[in-house]
Amino acid sequence: DEQLVLQCQITLNGNGERLLMARDITRLHRLEQIRRDFVANVSHELRTPLTVLTGYLEIYQDIAEVLPSRLECSLPQMQKQTARMQNLVDDLLLLSRLESNDRSGEDARRLNLASMLETIRRDAEALSDSGQRITLEIHSTLDLMGCEQELQSAISNLAFNAVRYSGSGSQIVLRWRALGDGACVEVQDDGEGIAAIHIPRLTERFYRVDKGRSTATGGTGLGLAIVKHVLLRHEARLEIDSQLGQGATFRCVFPHQLVVASSS
Ligand code: ADP
Repeated sequence: DEQLVLQCQITLNGNGERLLMARDITRLHRLEQIRRDFVANVSHELRTPLTVLTGYLEIYQDIAEVLPSRLECSLPQMQKQTARMQNLVDDLLLLSRLESNDRSGEDARRLNLASMLETIRRDAEALSDSGQRITLEIHSTLDLMGCEQELQSAISNLAFNAVRYSGSGSQIVLRWRALGDGACVEVQDDGEGIAAIHIPRLTERFYRVDKGRSTATGGTGLGLAIVKHVLLRHEARLEIDSQLGQGATFRCVFPHQLVVASSS
């Protein structure tokens, strides 16, 4: 009893008549479902062996002084790589959950952006090791209706990218401001910037401007894909303003129905 999935388009012809075009995308839809399930299952299956490996590495760390020196030397590298794999699996699982529209029990609620952005600012500062200045600009007292965990993780991804892709001594600003028809969070940096041809593709999974460099920065290649899906679920959108060598501004634009007067 498989359902038929149709993609429909209504157009007007020269005589002002409406034309309805329907395309059967059942097979495409099914393949997409198989891809999503596959990624979700693989990520889930990788979790257990990773937990076991991490556990053993912790034991080795505790007894490092009695280990043969060759093994001891390789410990930091093994820990680094398992942590990287763990981040990747966590991000893949998060992305699968976001795609499958599973809200995992978290409902939208009233959020105070000033305190959320301050937490993110502090986390970003902890990640930064090169004297970057990260400041907060709160231009609006409005609250936002949204899922706290999801938005926190999306905006953190933007802030961490700003730290990772702008050099020492750079300035990073986290900003909350009202727009004519809604409000936005902006994450602005004065780092290396992005050439125009890359911008439309940045939210694709594993798309990277500089493959070699990005893996060294510790990202998973899924950050902006996660941001895009979180915003989609909030009926919000991501705007990216950047030019090579001119820094970058990532803007999360929230529609007016999500922006409410502050309760305090
Ligand atoms: P990751 O950072 O793990 O590679 P993301 O999806 O978060 O994955 O970002 C995709 C790519 O977009 C990065 O590899 C980088 O090339 C580019 N990028 C993201 N944020 C910035 C930024 N603030 N400045 C310059 N380039 C950026």
